[in-house]
Amino acid sequence: MAEPEVVDVVVIGLGVGGEEVAGRLAEAGLSVVGIERNLVGGECPYWGCIPSKMMIRAANALAEARRVDGLAGSAQVQPDWAPVAKRIREEATDTWDDTVAADRFTGKGGRLVRGSGRLDGPRRVRVGDQVFQARHGIVLNTGTRPSVPPIDGLADTPYWTNHQAIEVEQLPESLLVLGGGAIGLELAQVFARFGVRVTVVEALDRVLAIEEPEASEVAAAALRADGVEIHTGVRAERVEHDGSRFTLHGNGGAAFTAERLLVVTGRRAHLEELGLDTVGVDAAQRYLTVDDRLRVSDGIWAVGDVTGEGAFTHIAMYQAGIVIADVLAHAREAEAGPDASGTASVVGGAMGAASSLGASGSSGSAGSVPRADYRALPRVTFTDPEVGAVGLTERQARERGINVQVGFTKLGSSTRGWIHRVGDDGFIKLIADADQGVLIGATSVGPAGGEVLSALVVAVHAAVPLSQLRHMIYAYPTFHRAIEDALHDLS
Ligand SMILES: Cc1cc2nc3c(=O)[nH]c(=O)nc-3n(C[C@H](O)[C@H](O)[C@H](O)COP(=O)(O)OP(=O)(O)OC[C@H]3O[C@@H](n4cnc5c(N)ncnc54)[C@H](O)[C@@H]3O)c2cc1C
Repeated sequence: MAEPEVVDVVVIGLGVGGEEVAGRLAEAGLSVVGIERNLVGGECPYWGCIPSKMMIRAANALAEARRVDGLAGSAQVQPDWAPVAKRIREEATDTWDDTVAADRFTGKGGRLVRGSGRLDGPRRVRVGDQVFQARHGIVLNTGTRPSVPPIDGLADTPYWTNHQAIEVEQLPESLLVLGGGAIGLELAQVFARFGVRVTVVEALDRVLAIEEPEASEVAAAALRADGVEIHTGVRAERVEHDGSRFTLHGNGGAAFTAERLLVVTGRRAHLEELGLDTVGVDAAQRYLTVDDRLRVSDGIWAVGDVTGEGAFTHIAMYQAGIVIADVLAHAREAEAGPDASGTASVVGGAMGAASSLGASGSSGSAGSVPRADYRALPRVTFTDPEVGAVGLTERQARERGINVQVGFTKLGSSTRGWIHRVGDDGFIKLIADADQGVLIGATSVGPAGGEVLSALVVAVHAAVPLSQLRHMIYAYPTFHRAIEDALHDLS
C-alpha cells in the first residue's frame, strides 16, 4: 500500500464550490490537493448554467425580434443554431476543455490530481494508487448526476441528458422533454424558439411544481405560446426507440413520439462512491447531511449540490465562503495548539497566511465563522418570462402554521408592464408573516423577473419591516415598482 502523502486539505470534486474552496485555501498558503475526475469547474460552466444561458440569450433575441410586429413594424427572423453551438463550443467551454480552469487553480498554488477520489479512513483520501493524509480536513464537492427514472426500456435507448442537449450541433426536428422542472422548461423553450417541435411530459399536475401555482400557469402559457405541447399528470411507463424515433408511453394510454428524448427528471448525489463507510458516515442518505458550517463530521466538510440545500451555483459559492472561513479557523487553532511546533515547520507559510487572514478579519476565529442560513434562498428559472422566487411559497408558509398574508399584482397592471405590452406576462406575489410584519417569501415573474427578485431577496434576508418596505421609494416606471402594488395588496 502506498505511503500516504501529508497535505493540509484535500478537496474531492472541483465543481463550482470545490474549485472555489480549493483555490482560495491554496491562495491562503495551505497545501491543497484538488481531485477531479472530469472537468475542473464542474457542471455549471460546461453543461449547466453558462451554456444554457447562452442558449436562452439567443432564443430570447429571436422572441424579441418576433415581437417587433406588435410594436415597431415588421421583422423576419431566420433562426440558425450554428452561432449558438459555436459560441458554446468556443466561448463557454473551449470545446469541453478545462485547461484554463486547471491552470487557474494550479496558478493559485493548488495541486490538481486527475481521477476519482474516495475516503479511505479518517482524514485519508485515495485516488488510484495515491493516498493523501489531510492534516486540516477534507472537503467533498462531488455534485450530482442526472437522475434517470427506472422506466421500462429507457436505459437501452440513446436518450439525452443535459449533456447532449448542451452539446448539440444539429437540432432535431422534434424533442420530447421528460420533466417539467426548471431545466426542462428552459431547454424546451429554447429549442421551440429555434423551430424544434417540443413536447413536455410531466408526472405532477403542473410544471415548475416547487414554485407558486400562478408561476406554473404563466410559464406553461408562455411555452405554449412558443408552440410547446405540455402534458401534465402523465407518468412515463415505457420508452421505445426504433433506431430513429422515440415513443414514450404514459399512464392512461398516452403516447408521444419524437426524434429525440431529453430526460431531465432531477439529479442525484452518488454517495455510495465516496467511501463514507470508512469514516462512519451513512452512505444511504440522499444527500450529505451537514451542519450550518457545512461540516459532515470531524475534519470533513461538504459544499454544493451534494449537500441537498439547493442545486444552484450561488448556493455552492455561498457555502464555499463558509467552508473556507471554517477550515482557516481550524488551521489557525491547530497552529496555536500544543503540537503547533510540529506542524509549523511543515505548514509555516500556510499558518502565516491563515493568521494574516484572521487578522484582517476575512475569516475570523472559529467563533465568528458565518453560519449557513437558507431563509432567503433565491432561485430563478430563466424562461421568458423569468420566474424568480425567494424563501417560502404560500403553501409552505401555511403548512408551517404561519399567520400568512398574501399580496399579489399582475405586471401588466403596472405602468411599466403596460408600456412593455407584448411579453409583459408576469406578477409579483408576496408572502408575509403577519405576526412578525415581514416578508418570508416572494415570487417575481416577468421579463426581468430574476432581476426584480433582488429587492425581494434583501427584504426576506434582512427581515425588513413591511412598514419600511411600504414607505420606501420605487423608481418610476420600473418593473420592480410592481412590488409596491403587491405590498398595498397585502393589507
Ligand atoms: C442545464 C442546467 C442549467 C443550470 N442552470 C443553473 C443556473 O442558471 N443557475 C444556477 O445557480 N444553477 C444552475 N444549474 C445548477 C448548477 O450547475 C449546479 O448547482 C452547480 O454546478 C453545482 O456545483 P457543485 O459545486 O455542487 O459541483 P458540480 O458542478 O456538480 O461538480 C462536481 C464535480 O465533482 C466531480 N466529481 C464527482 N465525484 C468525484 C470523485 N469521486 N472524484 C473526483 N471528482 C469527482 C465531478 O466530475 C464534477 O466535476 C444548472 C444545472 C443544469 C444541469
